[in-house]
Amino acid sequence: MKALVYKGTNKLALEDKPIPVIKTPTDAIVKITKTTICGTDLHIMKGDVPTVTDGRILGHEGVGIIEQVGGNVSNFSVGDHVLISCITSCGKCTNCKKGMYSHCENGGGWILGNLIDGTQAEYVRIPFADNSLYPIPAGADQEALVMLSDILPTGFECGVLNGHVKPGDTVAIVGGGPIGLAALLTAQFYSPAEIIMVDVDDNRLEVSKKFGATKVLNNSDGKAVEKVMALTDNRGVDVAIEAIGIALSFDICQAIVAAGGHIANIGVHGKPVQLNLDKLWAHNITLTTGLVDTVTTPMLLKTVMSGKVRPKQLITHRFKFNDVLQAYGTFSNAMKEHALKVIITND
Ligand SMILES: [Zn+2]
Ligand SMILES: [Zn+2]
Repeated sequence: MKALVYKGTNKLALEDKPIPVIKTPTDAIVKITKTTICGTDLHIMKGDVPTVTDGRILGHEGVGIIEQVGGNVSNFSVGDHVLISCITSCGKCTNCKKGMYSHCENGGGWILGNLIDGTQAEYVRIPFADNSLYPIPAGADQEALVMLSDILPTGFECGVLNGHVKPGDTVAIVGGGPIGLAALLTAQFYSPAEIIMVDVDDNRLEVSKKFGATKVLNNSDGKAVEKVMALTDNRGVDVAIEAIGIALSFDICQAIVAAGGHIANIGVHGKPVQLNLDKLWAHNITLTTGLVDTVTTPMLLKTVMSGKVRPKQLITHRFKFNDVLQAYGTFSNAMKEHALKVIITND
């Protein structure tokens, strides 16, 4: 089969690889119909994720059709259309029982396209298939569902739920990439009064307005903090969602959080940041971190099926699997290419 393979820092290749086989009776083999590239894949490409080694097939998002199931898989049969969760989980260990699938103690968590071969291929092996796959309802738009593998649950769980967005709140989202936009779409479940999007890219800010941001701020001048404080009568925001993963965006969040507010970090940080406890110790804030657990995927699936949330709006480019390297080129130049999410289709 064809697969997109990490070959060391800044090297990717489209290679022929053997079709994966069942290794454990709880595995399933899925024929990938659609996949996508995540910002995390770009971090891997740059060598920021040392757990990914030379020769690894990348990708942790996608939809497909069950090709083969192990003897202990009971929820799925050959031919079923499935959504692949970016988080693999046994569903049985102590952490899984708490709904903390990202910390599955039986070798699950974020392993796809990281510790084991991922979804940017014609076939993928999914361990713990019963708990790591979701059935796709008949008539569903499969492209839209690719957004449910990672970005929609990540924006919702790590941004909106951890940030405790409530009706009437003022929310700021720092970072208008796919994850920030997913937080923007799902924050609206809770009817916040204001959602302020902060980015440096006018195109992303334009998109944010269409997706429901009430105010947008271009931080190219570095004045986002002053502008947010001016917009909030110097109170700050009830919820500051960090959706980039750098010190600058975290610093904006700690400067704009209101007394009693929440900072919800989503970004993948490669370097330490400074926590300004000299200012925040008496400010009654909470700070949350975490990897997505994907426990909200079944709920989000219903909201997508009903049209309440339309994640398909995030898709800007489409490629055939043979052009996956070109897809990486486009996604790597997201600002210039006006790219949000790309869909890669296997015929
Ligand atoms: Zn991802
Ligand atoms: Zn587990």
